[in-house]
Amino acid sequence: MTRPLSSASGSDYEHPMTRFSFSLNATDGKARTGVISTPRGEIRTPAFMPVGTAATVKAMMPESVAATGADILLGNTYHLMLRPTAERIDALGGLHRFMNWDKPILTDSGGFQVMSLASLRKLTEDGVTFKSHIDGSKHMLSPERSMEIQRLLGSDIVMCFDECPALPADRRRIEESMRLSMRWAQRSRDAFGDRPGYALFGIQQGGLEEDLRAESAAELTKIGFEGYAIGGLAVGEGQEAMFGCLDYAPDQLPQDKPRYLMGVGKPDDIVGAVKRGVDMMDCVLPSRSGRTGQAFTRHGVVNIKNARHADDPRPLDEDCTCPACRNYSRAYLHHVYRAQEMISGMLLTWHNLHYYQEIMASMRGAIAEGRFDAWEAEFHAGRAEGDIPPL
Ligand SMILES: [Zn+2]
Repeated sequence: MTRPLSSASGSDYEHPMTRFSFSLNATDGKARTGVISTPRGEIRTPAFMPVGTAATVKAMMPESVAATGADILLGNTYHLMLRPTAERIDALGGLHRFMNWDKPILTDSGGFQVMSLASLRKLTEDGVTFKSHIDGSKHMLSPERSMEIQRLLGSDIVMCFDECPALPADRRRIEESMRLSMRWAQRSRDAFGDRPGYALFGIQQGGLEEDLRAESAAELTKIGFEGYAIGGLAVGEGQEAMFGCLDYAPDQLPQDKPRYLMGVGKPDDIVGAVKRGVDMMDCVLPSRSGRTGQAFTRHGVVNIKNARHADDPRPLDEDCTCPACRNYSRAYLHHVYRAQEMISGMLLTWHNLHYYQEIMASMRGAIAEGRFDAWEAEFHAGRAEGDIPPL
């Protein structure tokens, strides 16, 4: 991959000509397609962002991630601040150089993972103190500290520091948490400062309560962000409840800015979110499932560990152009999974990420041509068929 033009520090990359911007090219129903422009390149939307938790998309070389068609990936503030630390990454030239990925990077704020991974958390108006899940060391995250870490990493799209309760939670808890997140959104905006070429996204909260979502959206819009995320979903509420919320939540956010649904999802979650007006998503599912022998295909999920594949010389998906499908049989994929060979996770992750990016590309094409509904019907019909019969 080519190197950044110049990057003595993760925080000083700037191209004089390009600023962060978003342009919509077409809409079809509520589904939208467009382009986010950044100094590090364009992000075609709707976009799926593979997750590179610890400065790597597990089992993938960065060149391979790019070859699947990904325009952007996601890094996790919580993991990187603990190991190897944001200060070390900054001293080594920033996250792009550190992990050899010169396209855009979005980092989360650390808030969500502090709540799910760290121990002895203490939440106050100021922020969160917690102990590392790695070595028990004590740390603090606040809106100001999260902005500092994401700047040191050199993240192109920075997320506001927020707090979100797991669902189900009672309304009062959701309301208090949302209002705290809105105060933190203002502090995040103030701490982020003026950084041409970089973007700060606000995060809408409010659980499954339509009026709280509306209040949150209004508050964020008043502060003003380069993009808006829908947070607090995919936390155990189920697809029906999530789609119920997505029937109104994206509409509450500005039309002319990218909308990012955090932590979603399965292929059908992604299609349903795009149908409802979402532009960006991220999820560990394609990479994590690849490491546990699960492949997502046009005909549904294939569990490569099943004995039915042991003698099957056919590819996982004969129409897929990824290396796992072009060059290897189901029998081989089954064998290396059973033998716990590393190439098993490598090939299945590649296939899954390739399939996810194919869904995104074909949705972009369908929206541009005004045939999203027909595309969606075909997508669901293919999945309903199920896997090819065993030999
Ligand atoms: Zn494939």
